[in-house]
Amino acid sequence: MRAKTVVLLLTLTLGGALLVAQARKTLDIYIVDVEGGNATLFVTPAGQSVLIDTGNGGANAARDAGRILEATRDAGLTQIDHLITTHWHGDHFGAMADVAKQIPVRAYYDHGPTVQPQPASEEFLKNVYAGLIAQAKHTVVKPGDRITVAGLDWRIVSSGGQVLQTNLPGAGRPNPYCASFKPQDVDKTENAQSVGSYITFGKFRVVHMGDLTWNKEAELMCPNNRLGTTDLLVVGHHGQPVSNSDVIVHALRPRVSIINNGTRKGGQPDAMKVILNSPGLEDVYQIHFSLLGGQEYTVPGMFIANTFDDQPEAMPIGAWTPPPQGTQAPPAPVHNGKAYWFKVSAQQDGTFTVTNTRNNFSKTYRAGQITSSN
Ligand SMILES: [Zn+2]
Repeated sequence: MRAKTVVLLLTLTLGGALLVAQARKTLDIYIVDVEGGNATLFVTPAGQSVLIDTGNGGANAARDAGRILEATRDAGLTQIDHLITTHWHGDHFGAMADVAKQIPVRAYYDHGPTVQPQPASEEFLKNVYAGLIAQAKHTVVKPGDRITVAGLDWRIVSSGGQVLQTNLPGAGRPNPYCASFKPQDVDKTENAQSVGSYITFGKFRVVHMGDLTWNKEAELMCPNNRLGTTDLLVVGHHGQPVSNSDVIVHALRPRVSIINNGTRKGGQPDAMKVILNSPGLEDVYQIHFSLLGGQEYTVPGMFIANTFDDQPEAMPIGAWTPPPQGTQAPPAPVHNGKAYWFKVSAQQDGTFTVTNTRNNFSKTYRAGQITSSN
């Protein structure tokens, strides 16, 4: 009796975090809505956490940090153990200072200095990031590196313009999609530097490639598929067609893809055709309806997490055509109000559930029901 009372008091004293950590048996992944940026939070059953990217900066930093913090609270976190910044674009590092002010970050990972110096990223790296990493662990990662997270096998597969040169366990078969691959123009931006990760929890697999672009996808996946397949693909580059070639999307054979697009960023027809045509695919989820795709290239509303502040009565059927170059486009629909995340809860056996927190639509993908690969 007495020991029980002590344990109970201790638990109450330490607050909800411990209760959550003790109760959790799943790997939980929060795909946070940062309006066409990226912020993806992983929380292990033991309460270890990895955040990939911190959303937008400037006038949107407080909003996006707030949304990320809400996810950390939902998960019962008191710190972020690992923060990976995929690359030095403002929709990926923007709210970092605001996040770090509100929750301690223990270790930082990135691909190294920027290859595309811009006033905002240079200022950030010099005056903000340098200070943050001075007080924590900091690692520049390269392909083949692992991030030590108990319960997960976290492999870096791209970073700093380099890609993995060896096969992940069980992978390495010839990739049939390479034969018809057509390169795009060389991408000299930060996107091609993105830190990409292949994460395994028991039999459950997730791929997150940041904004890695088209030609780098082929460097990684051709002629042999060095990654193998995945259960969940966090779609690259917000679902834009300068990424998402079939050499990666189709070869990975995701059961489920989740797109972190914005109201008018990503989710374009050419990328949606590849994503929705992926072999073995069961469902696609979008963090937003994208005007660039219209109803023609989107998923049913049940699979969309967020609306606009000023929601129109009906959504356009066709894809929105941007005005000709040099003309001012009308402002994109705003969404600063209540935001909803997708929560993925994965079990060791490979079963996972995706929940749309806007409408509580939830679907479970059972292990062992994977379409056989050929
Ligand atoms: Zn981006």
